[in-house]
Amino acid sequence: MPTSFMRIPYRDLLPPPNIIPPAAATLSGAITALQEFFYNPPPSGLPPSTVVLTGAGLSVASGLADYRGVKGTYRVNKTHRPIYHHEFVSSHETRKRYWARSFLGWTTMSMANPNSGHYALRDLGKLGVVKNIITQNVDSFHPRAHPEIPTVELHGYLRSAVCITCRNEYPRDVFQTDLARLNPVWKDFLKEAISSGALDTEDPNEKRNRGIKMNADGDVEVPGAPYTTFRYPACPTCLSNPPPLADGTKGVVEVDKDGALESSSNAGILKPAVIMFGDSISPDVKHAADKAIDSAGRLLVLGTSLATYSAWRLAKRAKDRGMPIAVINMGGVRGEEAFFSDLDPTQPGNQGVRTEISTESLLPALVHEMRKSGGRSHSHHDDRQAAVAFERTNPAEVFKDFLS
Ligand SMILES: [Zn+2]
Repeated sequence: MPTSFMRIPYRDLLPPPNIIPPAAATLSGAITALQEFFYNPPPSGLPPSTVVLTGAGLSVASGLADYRGVKGTYRVNKTHRPIYHHEFVSSHETRKRYWARSFLGWTTMSMANPNSGHYALRDLGKLGVVKNIITQNVDSFHPRAHPEIPTVELHGYLRSAVCITCRNEYPRDVFQTDLARLNPVWKDFLKEAISSGALDTEDPNEKRNRGIKMNADGDVEVPGAPYTTFRYPACPTCLSNPPPLADGTKGVVEVDKDGALESSSNAGILKPAVIMFGDSISPDVKHAADKAIDSAGRLLVLGTSLATYSAWRLAKRAKDRGMPIAVINMGGVRGEEAFFSDLDPTQPGNQGVRTEISTESLLPALVHEMRKSGGRSHSHHDDRQAAVAFERTNPAEVFKDFLS
């Protein structure tokens, strides 16, 4: 029986894909194929709208690292090991380590912005093509870029910290200010690290060159302030009124004189509002994602290898419903042969599309072409012209691995 537990996705690189149709190997061919995909009615009984499923690859052009790309976390940092939900919830020491890393990464994260791929989705929404989006990303770029398109954030979001006892949420920016107040040595260190550019890279050697020391686990070492000294605040609601626990006893929320949570506490613990490995997706979110698939007639998959089960099963669900699937991803996608095995080899894109062209170049060029043709078009387009039709963001690799 399948569960919705978040598992460690496998790290092996998948074999390269077959491009479908073969003409979709070029930008102009991919644009033509995707127009066939969007403008032809899906098989009978299915609605004419498209649902989009996105992953980390879509945010690479915003400066965030993906997992399996050329500069992905799994390739650059070989010692990478994510934190599990049960470790975070049960261990004060694990939480110190998580929040210390998160403290250092948040400034860069909060300065990153949606890219041309996200804005192209907004435009596809305006063109009436895209009705719903499901994302595995926790960077909040979808709701920021296109608040008018309903977005299911499958794995949660970093913009809030959530109390594991009372479920109240707190803005991550406010939480950051609290962390700075409770950890003055880290606050000064962060200031220096930002100005040296040491946090702009995930490469341990490059970090070292810019004055940051890292330990064998890939953690940054702050001189004179080891992880064990890092402090984080309690949930203010639970602190002022300790809630009863599931076993009927009163929860313990204890803080030091500055308001930092003590290890004796068993309630009022704040955690990022994301699904960590070993945690399960809430039934509400799971249901919303299923509904988004079931209310559409096509699925567009962007920037994800579908390595997590929660994402793969949605694509499988779409396939089982008979929905045509288009995949735009650099590198292989889990189980993709099965998504395309029954396609007519001569079909132009209406039955399915598979291309490796980057989302931040392909999607804006597609929107440009669809607007120009005012609806349906089969015309080919010059690659170079299309390439200047969108604004390209300058990808600066940043420390981003917030799920770990
Ligand atoms: Zn609380």
